[in-house]
This record gives sequence, structure tokens and C-alpha cells, in this order.
Amino acid sequence: MTGESLAQKIIAMASGKEHVEPGELVWVKVNTLMIHDIAIAGVVEIFKKEFGDNAKIWDRNKVVLIPDHFAYTKDDMANNNIRIMREFAHHQGVEHFYDLSTKMARGVCHIALPECGYTRPGEILVGTDSHTTMAGAFGTFAIGVGNTDAAYILGTGEILLKVPQSIKVIFEGVLPSYLQAKDLILKVIGDLTVGGGAYCSIEFSGPVIENLSAEERMTICNMAAECGAKSGIMVPNKAAINYVKNRTNINFGVILPDTNAVYIKTLVYDVTEMEPVVALPHSPDNLVSISEVPDIKIDRVYLGSCTGGKFDDFMAVANILKGKKVLVETYAVPATREIIEKLINEKIDGESIFGILSNAGVFISLEPCCAACFGGTDDTFGRANKAMNILSTTNRNFLGRMGHKEAKIFLASPYTAAVSALTGHITSPTTFMDKI
Ligand code: SF4
Repeated sequence: MTGESLAQKIIAMASGKEHVEPGELVWVKVNTLMIHDIAIAGVVEIFKKEFGDNAKIWDRNKVVLIPDHFAYTKDDMANNNIRIMREFAHHQGVEHFYDLSTKMARGVCHIALPECGYTRPGEILVGTDSHTTMAGAFGTFAIGVGNTDAAYILGTGEILLKVPQSIKVIFEGVLPSYLQAKDLILKVIGDLTVGGGAYCSIEFSGPVIENLSAEERMTICNMAAECGAKSGIMVPNKAAINYVKNRTNINFGVILPDTNAVYIKTLVYDVTEMEPVVALPHSPDNLVSISEVPDIKIDRVYLGSCTGGKFDDFMAVANILKGKKVLVETYAVPATREIIEKLINEKIDGESIFGILSNAGVFISLEPCCAACFGGTDDTFGRANKAMNILSTTNRNFLGRMGHKEAKIFLASPYTAAVSALTGHITSPTTFMDKI
């Protein structure tokens, strides 16, 4: 019998089998199901059709409902999704409903999930969103599914899964001060391409991953989805374990891959000499090293999303913007309420992160949600409503992703975004970092 990757090990446990092989179809018990506002109407419709109008969901304590995509808008169609979610939650007695109109409101689902303790190592987390992979940072096998699978889980608590093949990515060396998780994962996407990890589990490891903060690890697992991967996953390090322990009383165990696990591909990077990178329009794998980026004038910098709207991301930006003024309009959307509170309370040299950003001229939203990462309705904060060049810390730059079809989106790290906000052109943080 061949050894098992981390994903195989967790799937085997959740399916009650001793061993599973890639390609095998297995029924898996789901620990947590997350549904967001853009999926809720479709999921509820299928659930009622298949299980009956008065059917009860499998476990009201294991379903998490988070409105985040089209939130804080006047658009009636968008708000109708949230009304459907509200009705369903009340009818089913779902406790974990983070309603925008209550104190429960949190923000972007992929950050709310770990904050609220749902991303436990060794478990199966399913969400109606491709970036559910983010929870892999904690050693959770976390996957995105469509409405039909989600509806079936709602009724039964199980999903039929094809065991994915695994790809191993190892980061070695010493991380230079100007390099961030966003650079590392964009590099992988550039090499693997957007289809290169299709239905695979990408297992990240190596000393660099071992030393990253929980939030930086989340960035990497989140964007495994950009390679088409089913999951991005890591053995939880100390930072990840501490993060989870502080958020839940539920016991969990750390699972390790077998030393003789089989990977269909292994990529090894020495980060010591790596350069920051930028994904040019209109694909995350359209990658260039920052020294090869031609002179590109930018009209806007956008700091936000599940990938770029975390506390660590804003801390990085604040370190660069402290005492300076941005040259181009810069929008910031913290991903959750908790992050907003931290931005207000945490300080650099006596000044709050919130204060540093706003004194630098950054427009900061106090309504945590997906905002312009997803384009959204016309009244969405930071949305591109005309043709423009946007340098963004989000995770996708497909045509029309942030609103207007003629907007060009360049993806980069928070450091690169912050330095570029000061110069008005896409600018490398490498030389700048020496000055702060
Ligand atoms: S912030 Fe963007 S990438 Fe993240 S869940 Fe929302 S729309 Fe998706």
C-alpha cells in the first residue's frame, strides 16, 4: 500500500476507511458546511425540491450562514438573497448565522470561519465558494462545492468525493524582508498555470511555510484555488494551532502525511533570491517579476478581500505608509469586524494602524465584506465603475472581476501595493524596504 498525502489521510478518516487512493469515490462525513449569500437561494431551492418543503437540515449546529458577497448595498435583488438566508436560518434554527443586521455580523466568509473557530485541523470543511481552500492553512481539508452538493450536505451531512491526487510545493531558504505570502503563491500559480492543479490537493510545506503567520498561510491556501485545485493544505504549524486553540473548545488532532506519500508533481522553491511578482491582466498566472514590469501608471490601489484584507496585510501596508501620503486613490476594505477593531487598537510607534492608513489618505470602509473584489453592485465601495488601472491585493484579475470590463487589474502583495500607492506607478518594494 502506498503512503497517503495529507488530503488522503483526512478523507480516509472522514470516510471511515483505513486507506483511500486518488481517484477513488468515497462518501465523506462533513464537519462544517458554509453557505454564503450568492449561493443560498439556489441551495435552498434544491434542498426543498429533494428533501421536501418541511425537511429539517441534518445538523443545525454544523451549518454556517455568512452574507458577504453582495452586502451593504441598496440593490434589492442582492438584499433578497440575504432575506432568503434570514428566513431559512430562522425556519431551521441555524445558530451560526452571521446576519448583517445583528451583532453577529462578521465579514468575508473565509476569514469569519477561522475567527469563529470552524477551521479545525483534520476536519472536512465544505463551502459554496472556491476559496474555501483557505482553511487548509490550519490542516483542514477545505473545499468549495456547487449548490447541488451543498444542498445534499444540508440534507444528509455527507458528500461523495473523488479522492484528489496531490501536488507537493516546498518553500526553502530565508524569506527576504520584501517578500510576502502573496508573492510565493503567485509564483506557484505562474508556474503551474490556472489549470495546472485541476482537482488536485496542493500540499505546501518546507521551513518557510513552517515559519509563516496563520494569516500569511491562509493567503497561500486561498489562492491554491487559482490553479484549479480542489484544496490547498498544510500541516498546521505552532501559529496555526495556537490560532485555532484560541477560537474553539472543540478537540482536534494534527494529521501528518506519510513520509512515503505519492505526489504527482513536486515543486521546490528557494525563496532567498526570489523577487516580488505581479500578475498582469487578465489572469493570475500572467506573471512577471517586478523588475520586468514595464512602467505602468496606476489609477487606483485596492487593499482588501479574503486574501488582502487581513490584519497582517494592513500591518504591512501601514509599515510603508506611516508618515506619508498616497499619490493615487487608495481603497481599503478590512475583511471582518474583528480586523477593523484590531486596526483601531493595534499601534505602530503609538499611532493606530487605522490612523496611519487614514492619515496617509487611504479611504477605509467600515463595512467588512467582499466589496469590489467581486465587482458587486454599482454602489459597492471601491468598485471600478470605469476603465482604469487598479493594483490590487485581491486574488483574481479576470476581465470585469472588479466591475468595469475595461478596468485592468494587476495583482500584487500588500508591500508592492503600498509602495506603488506612494509613487503612482507599479513599484518594487525591494529598495524601499531598506528605508523603513
Ligand atoms: S473577498 Fe473576493 S475572493 Fe474572497 S470570498 Fe469574497 S469575492 Fe471571493
